[in-house]
Amino acid sequence: MQLALIGIPWDENSSFMRGPAEAPPLIRAAFASESANLWSETGIGFGATPIFDAGDVEAAPGVAMISRIAESIGALLDRDYHLIALGGDHAITYPVVKVFAKKYPRLSILHFDAHPDIYDEFQGNRYSHACPFARIMEEGLVERLVQVGIRTATDHQREQIKRFGVEVVEMKDFHDDLRLEFDTPVYISFDIDVLDPAFAPGVSHREPGGLSTRQALNVIQRLKADVVGADVVEFNPRMDSTGVTAMVCAKLLKEIAAKML
Ligand code: MN
Ligand code: MN
Repeated sequence: MQLALIGIPWDENSSFMRGPAEAPPLIRAAFASESANLWSETGIGFGATPIFDAGDVEAAPGVAMISRIAESIGALLDRDYHLIALGGDHAITYPVVKVFAKKYPRLSILHFDAHPDIYDEFQGNRYSHACPFARIMEEGLVERLVQVGIRTATDHQREQIKRFGVEVVEMKDFHDDLRLEFDTPVYISFDIDVLDPAFAPGVSHREPGGLSTRQALNVIQRLKADVVGADVVEFNPRMDSTGVTAMVCAKLLKEIAAKML
């Protein structure tokens, strides 16, 4: 099994501000930066075991982008890669997971986010970055959806969570010893805004009271599951004046990739 990386520079479904489309090259640059080495904390060296970089999906407007994402992800899954997609905003997750679900009929999602992203529609847009998990659950694409770090659920979103049987570890109930286990293949969807803005200010929706980088890494490292795919989304370089959030994304990329091997 080999690992592949693909950039999806797409943010036209962002509800509040643009910018996440500019993220993929900055995450790659932080990953390759000589300020750090290529070893995960768990002992995987990405110098000796490089990740295949499939480049970026070429940008296209609207529905055309959805089919381009599907083609690119499909081609990599056909070659048996486990892969990590770099967003882009959270709207990329629905088209990506749709392709994964064809290959893995018993897929589950571990979703890190300040927001449940399960609105039926947002500002009249059913493909908004606030809606991907409503589309995924309606279509029955996954067996379990487990959300961690949520701290913004509205009444409507709580109804959706109940309706779809979503398992939620709300931020207010988070414990440092959280250990998650899945008996299905798992796709990790990591929205950077699950982290407290003190650790990762480079996001469109800064929501105080979130996870520390360390707490998020611990949940990933302690996870008992076969992780077959992942995305890292919602990094907004326009909000990242010190560049620290790019480095946080690169660190997550390294530790998630290590977990997949
Ligand atoms: Mn999100
Ligand atoms: Mn979010």
